[in-house]
This record gives sequence, structure tokens and C-alpha cells, in this order.
Amino acid sequence: MESILTKSAVEQSKAILNKEITAEELTAASIKRIKETDEKIGAFNSLTEETAMETAKKADEKLAKGETLPLLAGVPLALKDNMNLTGSKTTASSKILENFVSPYNATVTEKLLNNLIPIVGKANLDEFAMGSSNENSAFKKVHNPWNLNKVPGGSSGGSAAAVASGQTALSLGSDTGGSIRLPASFCGIVGMKPTYGRVSRYGLIAFASSLDQIGPFARTVEDAAALLEVISGYDYHDSTSLNLPVEKYTESLNNDIKGLKIGVIKELYDEGISPDVLKAVNNAIETYKSLGAEIKMISLKNLKYSIGVYYILATAECSSNLARFDGVRYGHRSQNPKNLMELYCKSRAEGFGPEVKRRIMLGTYALSSGYYDAYYKKAQQMRKLVYNDFLEAFKEVDVLISPTCPNTAFDIGSKTEDPLEMYLTDIGTITANLAGIPGISIPAGYDSDNMPVGLQILAPQLQEARLLNVAHQFEKQHDYANKIPMI
Ligand code: GLN
Repeated sequence: MESILTKSAVEQSKAILNKEITAEELTAASIKRIKETDEKIGAFNSLTEETAMETAKKADEKLAKGETLPLLAGVPLALKDNMNLTGSKTTASSKILENFVSPYNATVTEKLLNNLIPIVGKANLDEFAMGSSNENSAFKKVHNPWNLNKVPGGSSGGSAAAVASGQTALSLGSDTGGSIRLPASFCGIVGMKPTYGRVSRYGLIAFASSLDQIGPFARTVEDAAALLEVISGYDYHDSTSLNLPVEKYTESLNNDIKGLKIGVIKELYDEGISPDVLKAVNNAIETYKSLGAEIKMISLKNLKYSIGVYYILATAECSSNLARFDGVRYGHRSQNPKNLMELYCKSRAEGFGPEVKRRIMLGTYALSSGYYDAYYKKAQQMRKLVYNDFLEAFKEVDVLISPTCPNTAFDIGSKTEDPLEMYLTDIGTITANLAGIPGISIPAGYDSDNMPVGLQILAPQLQEARLLNVAHQFEKQHDYANKIPMI
């Protein structure tokens, strides 16, 4: 493996600026590594080599002219395959969109290209981002670079595995209930879900629109901060995006955190947490104490309802969002139907995988008349209570910490028979989506099988800078960052 690929994104960017390597050489090296390793990993649905090389060339030309390069210019990135890149396939890892070519760029894509960040390919995911292990991809499974028999986490498993295996230093994922933080935790990297509305969702295939948010993956907190800076901001095309200035997240990383109040989420500390994960959280508590932070136990009393609430709201929203994939407006069209009804039914029956069908049926049920009040409306009310728990908590502490997931990466195939058990892996992450607050997962140690453990940090809405600062201070005390297990 070329040693430049083992560097962080910020280091790769410096190497370009110092003319130690060209953006084209770096991008070619990244593509070569993908070609050499991806048969084993399965991180990519497709490569976008031509666009990537074109973007890299633009960066090199700009530099040669003596012009200033934008942040992260020339540093290769993987885009989750549910975000549009004009002229390339956006499949959402679903058979129904297997041949769908994006007619326009997502806003994040536009921002990446403006910054001359080469997009090397479209990363594998659970079909329509529904899943926690990437086993729901209609095309292929993703293997965890730390142990190829284990899942990488989901739904952004390809984005996480690409970064963890050194194929790229950066990627984008989307997080509806934990889909960035969980795979970051399972793959030993940094993954962040920003505040709802901080990053535009325009051009992201919608799963549950009130929960979806795009965010960065990287091997260091600094890289994640830099990438977040690139993709954040108001967008006219997304009415839920926030019209507020974007901070320079990289500039506050080294702020002193002495006296900072850190809450440990009680419900994610005592019950059902694996001993290795608990050990890592306890180590994190000690680290923060040594940095002068104050630690306090905080109870989020409605956290136990969050999985139930999420699986009503997310499925209800998805049943509506996925109605457009009907073989007429978008997607696979069944051959030789007898009538229009059969065209709709067969196209959807042939195109969607089992988990997506399960979600659509659950969601349609929750929204149907007679059940709406009992399920959907109640879930909305509970969502408010979960949000209120955080409001109360953040009166007492500046940030909250917990394990990202109660366990580390599990064996491929070990949970596929039991959807409910799979859903429970999201217990640590879902509340942040319900409350719209930012959350990050950072590497915090290893279990007895040498699989990475993730620490989650949560902050109040729009406190991304604080979140990244607290994460970076932890990272500096340890040697968990920027590790590539398979060289
Ligand atoms: N694992 C959760 C689900 O299956 C979350 C997915 C996500 O965040 N996209 O719905």
C-alpha cells in the first residue's frame, strides 16, 4: 500500500500543497488500492474513476498556476451510494434503482466538487439505508477490514470500510438512526452526524426525512471537522437546512476542556453493555477526568422507548418516501404486466428487498386510519419527550457520552434471522436523531478479539464545534486514531 494512503486527509492535503505528490497521483493511488482490495471488502458499488481524475487534474492545474486551493482539494473521497453524482449510478444498493443514473448533483456533491475533492466511487450500503450491518445490500455484503468475517456496521458500511481500509481517507454517509456512528464504531474510525439541518439533504435519497442527515467519516477528528466544514451550510433546495453561518470547526479543536461538564448516559452504562465496551467507556471517563472535566451520571428516562418510537416514525416516513419507486416515475419496471395495478405491484415486489418491504408495510400500517392515533401520533408525542430529556440534561452538562453501541462488530450472518435483535444495535444512537442533536463516534479502544470499540459524544443542537473539540481532546491522549488494520 502506498504510504501516502496511510496518512490522514489533512496530511494528504499538505502533501499536495507542498508538491510532494500531485492530486492525480494520489487519486490514482486510491483507485489502485480500491481495485486491489475491494474484492475482499465490498465497499464500493461502482467506481467513478473518470470524474475523480478530472477533479484531481483541476486541483493540480490550479496549484500549478499558483492559486490557492480550497480545503481538502485533491483528497479522494467515497460517496455513499444514496447521494447523487451527475451521470453516475445512484442505486441505494437496491435492485429497484440498479440502473438509475443521477440527473443532477446532490448539494453535498456540488460542494465537494467546488472544493476539488475527487469522488472515487459510490459506497455500498444497506438497501435504502435500512439496516445496521450492511447485509441488506441487494448487491453484496461489506466486510469489516478489522476482521473480514464480521460486519462493518450499517447502513453506511461501505463508506466506513473504505476509510478504515485506507482506500480513501474520507467518505460521506447518511445517518437516520445511527448509520454513520455505528459503522464508524465497528470499523475503528471517526463518524459524525451533524445537527438536523446543518447539511443539506438535497440529492440524498430520502429514507425518513425528519431524521436523515449527511455527515463525514474520517480516521481523525481533525479530518472529520474539515470535511464537515466543506459540506455544511444553508441550501435553497432544502427547506429544512439551517440558514446559519458555518463555523470553522478545525479552529476550536485544541480548546482547553478543563471544567467542562460531561454527563455519562446512565441507561447506556449499566445494563446490557458488553464488559469490553464498558471498560473502554470507563477509560474514557478517566481520560476526561485527567483533562480536568467534571463527570456526572445523567439519566435519559425516555431512552428506553426510543427504538419503538423510531421504528414507527422512520417506517411511516419511508412508506411515504418510497412510494415514488413504482416502475413508472422511477426504477425497475416489471415486464408484461396485465394492467396498471399489476405494473405497480410487480415492479415493487421485484425491486425491493425483504427489509425494505417489511418497513414499508410497518409504516403503512402505522399511518392507516384507525391506527394513526394509536401509533404514529403517540410516537410523535414520545419523540418530544425524548427531546425534552436532552433539554434537561444539557442544563446540567455540556456534552453527554456513552458507548456508540453496546457491543462491537458481530459475525456476518449472526443476526440476520432476527430483525428485532438487529434493531437493538441502534439503542445508543437513535435518540440523537429523534432530538436532532449532533453526535460523533470516535475510536476508544479494542475488545478482547482486537475489534474496535466506539465512544459516542452528543452535544446540544448546533454545538458541532464543542463536540469536535471534546472528541479531539480525547483522541490526543490515545493512540487509536488513523489506524489501518489491513496493509
Ligand atoms: N439501523 C437503523 C435502521 O435500520 C438506522 C439506519 C440509518 O441510520 N440509516 O433504520
